[in-house]
Amino acid sequence: MDTVTSGWNKTIRQFAARTMAVCAIAVIAVQPVSAQSILRDAETEALLADMSRDLIMAAGLLPSNVNVVVINDRSINAFVAGTQDVYIHSGLIEAAGNSNEVQGVIAHELGHIALGHSITRSESASKATNITILSLLLGIAAIAAGAGEAGMGIMGAGQQAALGKFLAHTRGEEAGADVAGAKYLSQAGLTGKGSINFFKRLQNLEFRLAIPQEDSYNRSHPLSGERITLLQEIYENDPAFDRPIDPEIEARFQRVKAKLVGYVADPAETLRDYPETDLSVPGRYARAYAWHKSAYPEKALESARSLLDESPDDPYFLEIYGQILLESGRPQEAIAPLQKAVANTNAQSLIAGVYGHALIASEDPANLPEAERVLKAALARDAANPFAWYQLGVVYETRGDRPRAALASAERYVLQGNAPLALRSAEEAMIGLPQGAADWIRAQDIAILARDAVERQSRRR
Ligand SMILES: [Zn+2]
Repeated sequence: MDTVTSGWNKTIRQFAARTMAVCAIAVIAVQPVSAQSILRDAETEALLADMSRDLIMAAGLLPSNVNVVVINDRSINAFVAGTQDVYIHSGLIEAAGNSNEVQGVIAHELGHIALGHSITRSESASKATNITILSLLLGIAAIAAGAGEAGMGIMGAGQQAALGKFLAHTRGEEAGADVAGAKYLSQAGLTGKGSINFFKRLQNLEFRLAIPQEDSYNRSHPLSGERITLLQEIYENDPAFDRPIDPEIEARFQRVKAKLVGYVADPAETLRDYPETDLSVPGRYARAYAWHKSAYPEKALESARSLLDESPDDPYFLEIYGQILLESGRPQEAIAPLQKAVANTNAQSLIAGVYGHALIASEDPANLPEAERVLKAALARDAANPFAWYQLGVVYETRGDRPRAALASAERYVLQGNAPLALRSAEEAMIGLPQGAADWIRAQDIAILARDAVERQSRRR
């Protein structure tokens, strides 16, 4: 797992602490209160894509254009922000009892997108001193995919988009999204039971999580008994109402939920929810993260190894096993499991980034060409991976290629939300690169975007 910060006010020190920390899990601690970050994890993203594909198509959208993005925030919320992406707080996944509850939320949010609901700020937005904009990240990702114009468009739209807790829809829009969401669930053959259960859960708010919820889902989506009754009526009359939940999706969901808890929760809390007597796959998975996070590598490795004993080819078990080895100072041993994880996911970009890191951390010069190949391939597929940019920068630096190291830094500063340093690095890269070459043009694109963001930021002050 890795986090991508979207706040613009990161200091260099905070940034360095994030990217260079041996343990990627430590990054949460350096989050300032105002900044939110995107949580990227290969297994979670693959699951959410599979859980939402039929709903996205039912909404008349293209699955390749819609991302379900996880925000690293333990409050319970979900929102859309003027693009075709659905944002879900990690806290919502933690709070959901099953995959169908999350599908109900996704269906509703897709309703907002498909109906073209405008994004308006709630009153609390004006009180906010620093509204973080997520869409620069998306803009850069679009440019990386070769859509320069679209990228710029998203940038411009980003000035209206803000954090979910500052967004508000009208009552009419909420009702519209409810009806649309119910239609998508029906067309996807999914029951609406989860949606009702989730609403009831929210209403009771008997959460064991000690996270304030006042700015969360209840604010962005005011719940009323009336709203629930209406939805229940629609769902109950649908042929899909009594359909069971897909067991394969549900098993994957419980794994991802356990992993998220292990990753974001205090280890003591994880061990309370998943005690050592719980020998289920999710139980051992959650504890692997919790032990790793609390710096008990042997216990963490033991949990991961027991999972691998049962499923030796599972790429995500291989990933956590390799990651624990790497982050506890055993990069040489991490190479084999991570290489296998990359192979078994058809070179998933985030996992390839960790593999590249292990190759570099082995400090064997013979591994550098393979590291460069793997990291470049990973970033060509998915550029929104600051960790991989950092590693690629290390490869260039080692080889004495300053301009390309500077360009890699510019890429990662953009993803980390640091416009001033993105600008400085892009300008440094442009000086050293041959004018008009592809890398030079890329550096120029970043410089233009970053300069615009710096200027906008200074105007706001
Ligand atoms: Zn809504």
